[in-house]
Amino acid sequence: MPMIYPALWPGKKMIWKIFCGLSSETMRRRLVFVPNLKFRPAANGKNKEEIVLSILIRNVTVLSMEKEKDGSLKPPFKADIAIEGSKIVSIGTADFEKKYDKIIEGCGLLAMPGLINTHGHVAMSLFRGYGDDMELMPWLMERVLPAEAKMTPADIALGGQLAIMEMIKSGTTTFADMYFMMDKVAEVVAASGMRASLCEGMTTPMIGQHDKLEDFPAFYEKWHNAASGRITIMLGPHAPYTCDKDYLKRVGELGRQYQAPIHIHLAETQTELEQINDMYGCRPVQLLEEAGIFDGNKVLAAHGIYINEQELRRLAQLDVSIAHNPRSNMKLASGLAPVAELLAHGINVAIGTDSACSNNNLDMFQELRTSALLAKVRELDPTVLPAAQVLEMATINGAKALALADVGMLLPGMEADIILLDLDQPHLYPPTDLISHMVYAACGSDVDSVIISGQLVMEKRQILTMDCEKIQAEAAQAAKRLCV
Ligand SMILES: [Zn+2]
Repeated sequence: MPMIYPALWPGKKMIWKIFCGLSSETMRRRLVFVPNLKFRPAANGKNKEEIVLSILIRNVTVLSMEKEKDGSLKPPFKADIAIEGSKIVSIGTADFEKKYDKIIEGCGLLAMPGLINTHGHVAMSLFRGYGDDMELMPWLMERVLPAEAKMTPADIALGGQLAIMEMIKSGTTTFADMYFMMDKVAEVVAASGMRASLCEGMTTPMIGQHDKLEDFPAFYEKWHNAASGRITIMLGPHAPYTCDKDYLKRVGELGRQYQAPIHIHLAETQTELEQINDMYGCRPVQLLEEAGIFDGNKVLAAHGIYINEQELRRLAQLDVSIAHNPRSNMKLASGLAPVAELLAHGINVAIGTDSACSNNNLDMFQELRTSALLAKVRELDPTVLPAAQVLEMATINGAKALALADVGMLLPGMEADIILLDLDQPHLYPPTDLISHMVYAACGSDVDSVIISGQLVMEKRQILTMDCEKIQAEAAQAAKRLCV
């Protein structure tokens, strides 16, 4: 879902208020307590944490996402996974002479790379269920915009915390996010142990309005590679209909200057096509190309529903990644993305949830299943998007889309972003084809434990880095104030 809408942009005082943003609070260093381990800082700074922790996951079934020579996924196998600091150091038979800070018994568990959610707006989790099944404009005018106008920096942080809790509990270890007051989201990412690629949503400023592009250098310097590398920063021009051509040119230049990837909504609705045609006499992809957005920049485009044959070829040449958000597209009746065709053209397609306002949850396992099923219905072909390919979209392709080189697979030397699923459940029996089960049968609630960058952030369904009870209580209170 776009966080603001074309017909309302520009010209509303309310939107001006939203996008001016409020000054961020001074960031404080916080301590995260990892039970059974040690205290260590949830580093907001950029230096690697000094305390090296070691974890052994013993006798676990591993779905590493490695490929066989014929291109198929390597079948799950039994192994021990050893972790030191933030990295996986071995997958095989562990050195039991060595002392580990923590040993996890892996029998009955499946270890796989944490899922990568490549598009969303986490703070909007506070608006979950507020305005379902409505026409777009009444929903926006009567619900979303008035609620957003009341949001404080503390609300942004709270919505971010609620979403991060939900994502950890359902097996997501990395997410990409675009919203406003993103300093607050960065702070809660740092404290929670989560990994994220963040961008401030930017639009062409009105006369007298602050230009957020000017804030980008300071935001980038402050947060890129912060929290021991768990946070990376992108540029976030909102969409072709909210950023004019000159503004997009400036975004492209800044992207080249900072080597920062660009995250943008693209070709989400038929209305967007009509608006860009009215304004420029072309289609959104052509507008971005003419503005130089793709020149020397890595681009992540959310949605990509209205893409024609010529654009398929062009996006493949330009190495653009698409974040496919099937349930948001269905709920908002935006349309069906041509995922099978995008993949057939060699385009890197990853998966996202979009916000809890248009989904209405952030469970990537549901998104995986929907991606597979929807593509089959769209093509009237049950052979498209087989389970293994969908798993690749949510792991390997997601890492590529966010320009993260060392996540998305379980291999020695890569970041230890690992989810452990409890296989001892009726809907995962018989355990004949676990690759199939992960797409067609598993649920987020099957995730038992989560490790991100070598830190155990959830153990046996208990999140160790956040006060979940407090966050949920505060979220309920905030919704009473915001969603009225
Ligand atoms: Zn969106």
